Amino acid sequence: MLALHGTGVSDGVAIGKAFVLQRELPEIPEYVIPREYIEEEVARFQRAVEASRRQLMTIREHIPSNAPPEATSFLDAHLLMLDDKMISQAPIEAIRNQQYNAEWALKAQSEILSTIFEQMDDHYLRNKKTDVNQVVNRIQRNLLQQNYDEHEKIAEGEIVVADDLTPADTVMLKHNRVRAFVTSLGGPISHTAILARSLGIPAIVAAHSASRYVSSGEELIVDGKRGMLIIAPDRSIVDEYRRRQKDIARKKRELNRLRTSRAITRDRHRVALLANIELPADVRAAAQAGADGIGLYRTEFLFMNRPEPPNEEEQFRAYTKVIKSLPGKPVTIRTLDLGADKQVDGGRAGTAITVNPALGLRAVRLCLHDTSLFRPQLRAILRASAFGKVRMMIPMLSGQEELFQVLDLIEETKSDLKRERIKFNPKIPLGGMIEVPAAAISADLFASHLDFFSIGTNDLIQYTLAIDRVDDAVNYLYDPLHPSVLRLISITIQAGKQARIPVAMCGEMAGDPRYTQLLLGLGLSEFSMHPATLLEVKKIVRGAHLGQLTRFARDIMKLRDTREIHARVEKQSRH
Ligand code: PEP
Ligand code: MG
Repeated sequence: MLALHGTGVSDGVAIGKAFVLQRELPEIPEYVIPREYIEEEVARFQRAVEASRRQLMTIREHIPSNAPPEATSFLDAHLLMLDDKMISQAPIEAIRNQQYNAEWALKAQSEILSTIFEQMDDHYLRNKKTDVNQVVNRIQRNLLQQNYDEHEKIAEGEIVVADDLTPADTVMLKHNRVRAFVTSLGGPISHTAILARSLGIPAIVAAHSASRYVSSGEELIVDGKRGMLIIAPDRSIVDEYRRRQKDIARKKRELNRLRTSRAITRDRHRVALLANIELPADVRAAAQAGADGIGLYRTEFLFMNRPEPPNEEEQFRAYTKVIKSLPGKPVTIRTLDLGADKQVDGGRAGTAITVNPALGLRAVRLCLHDTSLFRPQLRAILRASAFGKVRMMIPMLSGQEELFQVLDLIEETKSDLKRERIKFNPKIPLGGMIEVPAAAISADLFASHLDFFSIGTNDLIQYTLAIDRVDDAVNYLYDPLHPSVLRLISITIQAGKQARIPVAMCGEMAGDPRYTQLLLGLGLSEFSMHPATLLEVKKIVRGAHLGQLTRFARDIMKLRDTREIHARVEKQSRH
């Protein structure tokens, strides 16, 4: 038995068999093939291409029916690429003419393709490089007779152990019903961790060397609350954890009784509790938790694991599906927030990674830079607004100029739709995410142009404390109670109050029961979180007295010692 510690990012206990996900390709051998063996080498290459095709077809057949359409289109694109001469023929020429071994020939050709793709201006074509790399890697693994270890091999109910998982991977894992996952790297507010919470499965990140100590098939216990991974546990430990699982299940049943109760404080203040979703399929969990609506729909997940961005029509269908599943409830559609750790490909292929991607061309910056990406989305959201209470929200605003550009584009899109006699809500509420310190400090300047704010604490904390969300080496500095963070939250709430616009919060802090009372006291009235914690937060709201909490928050804001802030908030949360 061995126990490893990491950062627990999603509560719960899982007991099951390990599946170790290896991604690294071994070194590609390079040698010259004697003339007489050339045709044999060509045949070996062709067999590897055929094996790759069979594998892709098998995965395609096994995609669950409730998987998003992008899961299939991503495989179709890979199948098409296998037929492309650049991949299936060019290496054969190199084997015949240069006497390269098959792996070397394929590697040389993929380097040529990479250079071609890198020179392309078009963002999406550039991203195709990822798919090419994935297809090439698949053939390489088959040549090297290395088990192809992608998600298709993961059996239902297994615990995935990996060095790292990209959000793109995690969204695929979602359909394999994995029981838990553990990564060696990563931070608590990385999108991968957020996805784990939205899946409601236990997860640990930054469990250093986990993938080295664990072998596939070994029994594991994942204690998501304590961030503990137990490898090959003794029987007595397994029994103890089974008891704990039963306790958790019982508490969950108790909380479920609150599903239809209102989120109202003891002194009768109504609080809105909404859900964060990544894909239309997540709406079910939001409805089951009794959410008052969707406070954050992260539309970028619609753009992942696929070769082409979804067109206006596909986006329109996805958005209306969400709206129609929650009749009468608000649905806050956030415009594309790609970039940084949310690359369409999960950043695997090393496409033009800038030195500081989190500070780079991300979210609204990317949308304004490439309006061919933005315009169809604006049209789709506006069209969807005719079907329900849609709100549009812009991520990562840092300066007013960006907002003005967005407003112009929205106006243009509205005029186009009007001219085309397409229905939309001309009064669609427009919100801005306050997640860059600059925006929080100058929230009053944004307020007059917006209908609501939503505080994105994940990025606000990352940028305020200068800690990369995905860098486990600086996890220890992550602190939602840092006085600078609390001040920025308070400034934003006050600016909203002054301008009489609602202020919501949709970062992870909003769904963390430890902070609910403090946030209520600071004046927050709308919380959006992954559905898994909604009922726990509701229970706290129902036990809270807003008048008392306002005084509590005022006292906290006066404290001059961070340790005392922590102690007081913790004490209060035990009440
Ligand atoms: C945030 O930054 O708090 C947020 C909600 O957005 P995301 O986590 O998708 O960056
Ligand atoms: Mg954010």
